[in-house]
Amino acid sequence: MKRIAIIGAGQSGLQLGLGLLRAGYEVTMYSNRTADDIRQGKVMSSQCMFHTSLQIERELGLDHWAKECPTVDGIGLAVPHPEQKGAKVIDWAARLHSSAQSVDQRVKVPAWMAEFQRQGGELVFKDAGIDELEACTRSHDLTLVASGKGEISKLFARDAHKSRFDAPQRALALTYVKGMKPAEPFSRVSFNLIPGVGEYFVFPALTTSGPCEIMVFEGVPGGPMDCWADVKTPQEHLARSKWVLDTFVPWEAERCRDIALTDDNGILAGRFAPTVRKPVATLPSGRKVLGLADVVVLNDPITGQGSNNAAKCADVYLKSIVARGEGAADAAWMQQTFDRYWFGYSQWVTQWTNMLLMPPPDHVLKLLGTAGAVPPLASAIANGFDDPRTFFPWFADPVEADRYIETSVEAA
Ligand SMILES: Cc1cc2nc3c(=O)[nH]c(=O)nc-3n(C[C@H](O)[C@H](O)[C@H](O)COP(=O)(O)OP(=O)(O)OC[C@H]3O[C@@H](n4cnc5c(N)ncnc54)[C@H](O)[C@@H]3O)c2cc1C
Repeated sequence: MKRIAIIGAGQSGLQLGLGLLRAGYEVTMYSNRTADDIRQGKVMSSQCMFHTSLQIERELGLDHWAKECPTVDGIGLAVPHPEQKGAKVIDWAARLHSSAQSVDQRVKVPAWMAEFQRQGGELVFKDAGIDELEACTRSHDLTLVASGKGEISKLFARDAHKSRFDAPQRALALTYVKGMKPAEPFSRVSFNLIPGVGEYFVFPALTTSGPCEIMVFEGVPGGPMDCWADVKTPQEHLARSKWVLDTFVPWEAERCRDIALTDDNGILAGRFAPTVRKPVATLPSGRKVLGLADVVVLNDPITGQGSNNAAKCADVYLKSIVARGEGAADAAWMQQTFDRYWFGYSQWVTQWTNMLLMPPPDHVLKLLGTAGAVPPLASAIANGFDDPRTFFPWFADPVEADRYIETSVEAA
């Protein structure tokens, strides 16, 4: 393999493309948006990335914002009391062993695009469809589809066996703001779980105008936090965000007395069904293309794993391409490449994420509740965000959960 085509210039496509250029490959990448479209467009994600993913970017020399981007130093969890407004039944925070960071994709993607071109990559601005895919498979040794949630991902068949849901599980919204009171005594993802209503989490990040805080709303469909459909303007979006906090998590509202939007495009509302797809698609000509990241494993953002998955998937694929050497990118190799990512890593992320979309079973409530009094358990939960494989088997099994609590109590 020498010539590689990638459709989609997001976290996974650009990271893989830049890694391939570095390894001496010729890379053509399609993007349906220019750098300016992205820079001046709406926010797309909250993109909080944990240590292992950041490390992959560092090793490729892509961590351009390491110094300016605020660090996220921990994870906290709060659950409101069902009857007493303002009281909490769960409230703890634990430090991450290594900080996380979130760089607005409107900052990151245009810079990585420029870097890709500077290193000799060919960037084509076009909304790629079947014709472009056919052309790429004729002129390149391997064609990858890294188009995220884009329409073209539907070329890849849904894997019913691996997909637990066939409908959106949360109404999502993002609000990028300035002027929020920082979390004390350390910066963190402040995660609030409101039973039956949804989740709200917030953390510091870097946006186009400097440091900010990103508010993420995950409303149970049809519930009171599924409340964005009638919002017409950015100011109404901000007001609705504050209403959610005032109503359900007043301690978070306290931090937000003086907030303002970072910009009119610092908002987003939408929903999608978490979906795992078959990794190899066959074009009308019979030629094969390989999907990566959100195209093949699309999780709800409730656990903040999508960009992390994209970084890790691109890393697995890069290593698999390099290891293949002169060998052909046939369908068997494509499937093996995906299997390395799925069986070795992302199946656990998907299982854990899907669990958190359902009402928590008793053993999970016990784990989350006990963590407040048992720091090693709180630390294990917080640091599991960097590698959700570490949640198994204890997060999924009541007997293992009890055993894990016992061990954590002994270690405390
Ligand atoms: C509300 C929300 C909050 C999130 N929060 C987090 C978080 O805190 N942490 C985290 O890790 N992840 C988070 N994510 C998920 C994360 O943003 C994505 O999983 C990640 O960006 C996926 O990377 P990707 O490379 O697969 O796709 P993307 O980053 O989506 O990139 C795909 C690119 O391909 C382009 N494209 C699409 N179709 C075509 C086409 N036909 N031709 C050419 N170009 C095309 C798109 O315009 C886009 O630029 C969040 C997502 C949402 C929606």
